[in-house]
Amino acid sequence: MGKKSLSSLQWLSRFLDETPGDENIGGIPRQVPSVCWSRVNPTPIPNPIMRLWSNEMADELGVYEGDEEILGGKKVADFMDPYAQRYGGHQFGNWAGQLGDGRAITLGEVDTGTKILELQLKGSGVTPYSRFADGKAVLRSSIREFLCSEAMHHLGIPTTRALSMVTTGEEVIRDIMYDGRKAPEPGAIVCRVAESFIRFGSFQIHTMTRDYETLQTLVDYTVKHHFPNFHTNNDDGLIEWLKKIADETALMIAHWMRVGFVHGVMNTDNMSIHGLTIDYGPYGWLEDFDPNWTPNTTDATSKRYRFGQQAQIGAWNYARLLESISPLMEEEERLYEALEFYYDSYEKHNNVMWANKLGLEKFKSGDEELVIELTSILQKVETDMTIFFRLLSSLNEPNINQLKFAFYNEDTIPVDEWNNWLKKWWHRVNGNPDKGKMKLANPKYVLRNWMAQLAIDAAEKEDYSVAIELYELLKNPYDEQSDFEVKWFQKRPEWARNRVGCSMLSCSS
Ligand code: AMP
Ligand code: MG
Repeated sequence: MGKKSLSSLQWLSRFLDETPGDENIGGIPRQVPSVCWSRVNPTPIPNPIMRLWSNEMADELGVYEGDEEILGGKKVADFMDPYAQRYGGHQFGNWAGQLGDGRAITLGEVDTGTKILELQLKGSGVTPYSRFADGKAVLRSSIREFLCSEAMHHLGIPTTRALSMVTTGEEVIRDIMYDGRKAPEPGAIVCRVAESFIRFGSFQIHTMTRDYETLQTLVDYTVKHHFPNFHTNNDDGLIEWLKKIADETALMIAHWMRVGFVHGVMNTDNMSIHGLTIDYGPYGWLEDFDPNWTPNTTDATSKRYRFGQQAQIGAWNYARLLESISPLMEEEERLYEALEFYYDSYEKHNNVMWANKLGLEKFKSGDEELVIELTSILQKVETDMTIFFRLLSSLNEPNINQLKFAFYNEDTIPVDEWNNWLKKWWHRVNGNPDKGKMKLANPKYVLRNWMAQLAIDAAEKEDYSVAIELYELLKNPYDEQSDFEVKWFQKRPEWARNRVGCSMLSCSS
């Protein structure tokens, strides 16, 4: 199949055709009861320039580079029918009412012949769901979303994707640390792509407003198009469908734990019904292994969304999804089966994950202790998670000397404890860990916070070379790529320790 322009793709709008929507088009932010969406056009921007482009995503869609006017929202083509989705959500544990796509506008769905994918612009202006904000996005957060979604994809982690990033030629005012220091920043728009952007909160909003008819319509729609092997016309069918969502959510979070990814804002409106990593905001990657770390300054005191609590938050969020489906159940107590299933499923994925990280053939009873001891020693002194596991993947004797590079201060390494643990592990794997497996579970390169920041610093000076280099590097995160080692297989540099954007991120994006 030859490559095409956006206009010659097969465009659909199933969501608009089959779920109830707003009678008005666009308009000011407001409550829009009893609907799943509002039609709204992107706000035109002065000067769209294509800056980043994902060849892999483009290939999947069958499209060639260009169309910066469309992907910047300057031009609405007649084959599109743009809309913003309505949803609600629990934010930091509290029901927040109607949220919705405040700064995302779906252009439509594309039938590639093998699958149907939704294309959505993030940052292209006000929608009925923008509440008090401007619907725009800044360059720094757009670079972070573009690079991280593509990096996650190449790590083999379920995620929404990015097709393009366009700068708008317009300044956006932001108060990065919410301390009253407002400043203009360059604006940008990412075109992101997924099976759909339906979230847990998409269902919740209808249940919370007792609109069970729309709830039923949305469930029917979602199952028909996205879970076609399920039949949700009775309790058994609903439970089976919900278990599938549990499994995909648990798998996604187990992957996050494997690579040291912290989402940062696991509100129920940021939980994809497909178990995709979605809504890249103040996310971060562990540098030193610290389960209590969260990159999100808004969450700095309660640390609800810290690294080590993500599986538990996944369960809490999933329980909110179950509640939202309860009006459709005959026997709602049966939803506990699904919640149990989430825990079992997470345990299963977590065990497989650890077996892979440690090169075990299979996770056996007794291995929990090995893992608990490992994660406890990892926290004794500042130890780089990515480097530690990567070097562990090519160890040839159980001696911590070969892992020294993972430590911030080699003088403080708890040598005896480590050698002790390494011997236990060595014994467990009969001196022969499955190194091939380990290298596919322990990436050599991830999008460390300071790496993304270097890309942003350069891009703010109109130099996209660092962003492009990282995009290329992170296409093969499990390969040695020795040429890049000195530059990118590195612990966090000192300048990044307390820098905004590296150790501290906010939702202001
Ligand atoms: P988040 O937790 O960042 O995914 O966003 C929470 C809610 O705020 C969602 O409904 C977003 O659409 C909305 N939102 C975030 N940033 C903006 C913005 N700049 N303009 C309008 N709405 C926004
Ligand atoms: Mg969100």
